[in-house]
Amino acid sequence: MADPVVIATWPFGKVAVETASPLLTAGRPALDAVIAGAQAVEEDPTVHSVGFASIPDRLGRLTLDACVMDGRTLACGAVACVEHIRHPAALARLVMEKSPHVLIVGEGAKWFALQNGFLLEMPHTPESIREWYEKRPEFLKKAALRPPPASPDDINVADEQNHDTVTVLGLGRDGHLGGVCTTSGLGFKWPGRVGDSPLIGSGLYVDDEAGAAGATGVGEEIIRINGSFFIVEQMRSGKTPQQACELACQRVNATSVRRGVHPANVAFVALNPQGAIGAACTRRTQFRYAVGRGGKVELLTAIEIGPRV
Ligand code: ASP
Repeated sequence: MADPVVIATWPFGKVAVETASPLLTAGRPALDAVIAGAQAVEEDPTVHSVGFASIPDRLGRLTLDACVMDGRTLACGAVACVEHIRHPAALARLVMEKSPHVLIVGEGAKWFALQNGFLLEMPHTPESIREWYEKRPEFLKKAALRPPPASPDDINVADEQNHDTVTVLGLGRDGHLGGVCTTSGLGFKWPGRVGDSPLIGSGLYVDDEAGAAGATGVGEEIIRINGSFFIVEQMRSGKTPQQACELACQRVNATSVRRGVHPANVAFVALNPQGAIGAACTRRTQFRYAVGRGGKVELLTAIEIGPRV
């Protein structure tokens, strides 16, 4: 029997930890507990980068991304760019359980949701609409709708795009790991843009035999290094969760140097099958995360990893 542990990105992940911890203590599977935790954040209208009430894309559409993974079987499911569905993490779980696929996107994801009893709902609140209208002109001026290749400033634009994802990793009493990642992506993103969060291996990876890892931050940089899979493989080869997260940040920094751009804000969390945790972020990300273990929930600050000079 393992001592349950749960870790979630950002201070707003505290509600996820507070929701998941008692479920883990009661012996519920890790996947159930972390999805319940993530759903509590999706429900929170004050969080403008996860679930409804988030900042829409450039056309004013709010599309959500999520994935889940079960460390025991490596079963996983994901949805991307899905509109009008309140709980994309729960939908991702259904993709895992009720479809032969791993990832369903856009209209297809919406149809799949409807077939499984989800309601179509209005994703905006008066506050989120007001924020979008107020910030949009300034954002568009900066971004000038220009495509990559990125200059150092382009990356900074992404950093400013109102983002942050909740990734929740859990270790159950039965010793199995589960994880979930759910987000609205970048505020003012290009229509159809998908970041790391619903991509198994980028935003999340979970394997009982090695550990679990999850990401937040500018998704393009996390995809480029396959961040979560990278961390899990580091743990598989003997690194602690902390060492593995720091190595992933070094890798992000190194790829940014090679591309001649400023390292973007990214952060990683990790949990191994023994219950040890790790977290790290690139410089100036100021990443904080929530941890629940031994009946306590605390907010911790991650170490920042700067580029090697
Ligand atoms: N990783 C998310 C994305 O790129 C955003 C974030 O976590 O800040 O869609």
